[in-house]
Amino acid sequence: MYIVLLGPPGAGKGTQALTLSKRLGIMHVASGDLFRHNLNKETPLGLEAKTYMERGDLVPNDLTVRMVLHKLKSPECNHEALLDGFPRTIHQAKSLDEALGQENKAIDVVLCLQVSSEKVIQRLSGRWICQDCQSPYHTFNAPPISQGICNHCKGALYQRPDDTETTAANRLGVYMKQTSPLIDYYNNQGKLIEINGEQTVDQVGQDMLASLSRIEKERSVR
Ligand code: AMP
Repeated sequence: MYIVLLGPPGAGKGTQALTLSKRLGIMHVASGDLFRHNLNKETPLGLEAKTYMERGDLVPNDLTVRMVLHKLKSPECNHEALLDGFPRTIHQAKSLDEALGQENKAIDVVLCLQVSSEKVIQRLSGRWICQDCQSPYHTFNAPPISQGICNHCKGALYQRPDDTETTAANRLGVYMKQTSPLIDYYNNQGKLIEINGEQTVDQVGQDMLASLSRIEKERSVR
């Protein structure tokens, strides 16, 4: 299966993708993680993406499409993937459709997490990460026991440059302008399923699984 997770930044796509990909046994392909990996290794691709990422802007389509398609064609994906953060523009979606079409494949379903703009800003600007063990925290939802210090390893907590409040507002604006048109794009293809992303993490996960098994059933009937 090829599944796309759609939704604004901070909607919980990453959290849900981790559980869902394990449960379904398919590769989690997160474009943001691929960029951060390249950034940490200081590859030419990572260095080119850096300024865009720090501003919360989208990295140019060509660069992004090349990176993600390369990953999708790798043997570890085995012609299946749970896509998180890609596609983010109509151009990327069309490139993906075209690439999969060449292998007689297609996106099977698009799960779209719905979260209000106020919630998105609150969620994004409150995110903190341990610089040593990468454990995530949140000012409101999951504060550390001691402010600024990791519960697990006592490492210092930091905010990703793209998680500050100004950048969070920019990322949301970018989503509205460049990514939200994908909702209509996939709806017109009959592939969009909307999920209430403001519920608990567990409930959102259950709703996603329920939607996927409904689709499986419908397919087996056809
Ligand atoms: P994320 O972790 O998905 O929020 O992505 C972090 C950053 O990586 C984004 O703010 C963009 O700068 C960049 N990025 C990730 N995915 C894409 C994409 N599909 N198209 C363009 N830029 C992306």
